[in-house]
Amino acid sequence: MTERTIHLVADPSSRDTRKIRIRASRWFATVQLDRDSYVDADAARGGEPDLPADYIEAVDKARNAAMDCIRYDGYRGAFYFGRGPRWIDLFARFRDVEATVVALRAAELEHDYSGLHALADRLALPIDEWLSPGERELIRGVDFESPPGVFLKFLRAKAAKCGLRLNGRATAGSVWIRPTLPAAQKQIREMFPEQYPGWVDRWTGYIESEDAPFRPWVGDSDEDLSRGAIPVHFQQLASESGGECPCGMRLQDVGDDSVHRVHHASWALGVRVPKGLSWWGDLAVVTTQSPISWRKLVYQVARMPQKEGNYDFPSWSHMGEPEATSDSYRAYLLKADERIVGYVAAHDTNEHRHWDLVDGSKYGVEDATLRPRIILIWVADAYRHRGIGATLVKALATDFGCKAADVSWSAPVSAAGRRLARRLSPGGIWVS
Ligand SMILES: [Zn+2]
Repeated sequence: MTERTIHLVADPSSRDTRKIRIRASRWFATVQLDRDSYVDADAARGGEPDLPADYIEAVDKARNAAMDCIRYDGYRGAFYFGRGPRWIDLFARFRDVEATVVALRAAELEHDYSGLHALADRLALPIDEWLSPGERELIRGVDFESPPGVFLKFLRAKAAKCGLRLNGRATAGSVWIRPTLPAAQKQIREMFPEQYPGWVDRWTGYIESEDAPFRPWVGDSDEDLSRGAIPVHFQQLASESGGECPCGMRLQDVGDDSVHRVHHASWALGVRVPKGLSWWGDLAVVTTQSPISWRKLVYQVARMPQKEGNYDFPSWSHMGEPEATSDSYRAYLLKADERIVGYVAAHDTNEHRHWDLVDGSKYGVEDATLRPRIILIWVADAYRHRGIGATLVKALATDFGCKAADVSWSAPVSAAGRRLARRLSPGGIWVS
């Protein structure tokens, strides 16, 4: 089918530029009414740009019916459409293009929406009937036209929209189906009737008639193991919900479930080392002048303690061009089991005070020695209490060229940091 443009007003002297454009794709044609310039011209004359509600309703009804038909034919992709006032898109199987154009033209020029309604009614598929309760065999050529596999997929999607479970199987020339309503879906619909206007439960308590067809058992699923089962029942208990996961994500963000899962796995097991990153040895020292792939990786790791500690800023932000810093800002990444399980952000400073590590005691003598200073230490949850923190502090000291006891800690030192410091430097530490 060739692309076509039909001017709604044929008179060449008319300045009315409304037109219908027909474009074919593999599965269907798009019939687009272009009112763009017309809306502008009409607005200049003081016209109301919005379409009447019954126009939109009729267009939506015709579009939905056509989309169902196209999906029923096997199309699995998405539809993108405008709903006015500048563009109105309808879709049509190739055989329905002319009827669609005629109906759309009458709606636009004569405000006669009956053609769109008639089109929608003609295209409407007996979906409610297909999804009736009970075991049935629908025959291709009698009950439906598409290939059985395609039809079953279409029906499954429709069933899922209604909250139904479709126990179905396609055969060479038919589909066997038994739609049922899970108790949870029933409960949702009864609890929120305003979200499901007109909903009627036709499925619960449906009793199979004596002469219901018997589906040949092919043993390829455990569907039959649920036949005659008693539904699970539910109770409402005042259980604790919400709050925060130890990884720092909010537990009630169900919508973000996969985000939380991914984050939680990295927090618990360490951040996966990207493929294609050459990494020799266990410890990588990343500076603000390192390649961007490394600095991005540090940023990713720094998100873990940031989230866990609810800090406003991550301990790593050098994501621009390589750039030296006066304090040698750097990060140490420790690898184990192909993941980054330990992280230290550090820089060098020369303003420190001594602290004897006794809780509540004041900081002591000032010191102006240049020392490596720990900004943050983080160890993946599953690797904690295994001496990795100590390994990291020692690595920082060795890299700088001092002893672990000479390292400076950023105050206030957390409880976990104090335990680590007491082990590494029982006589006291430098803080800043
Ligand atoms: Zn979590």
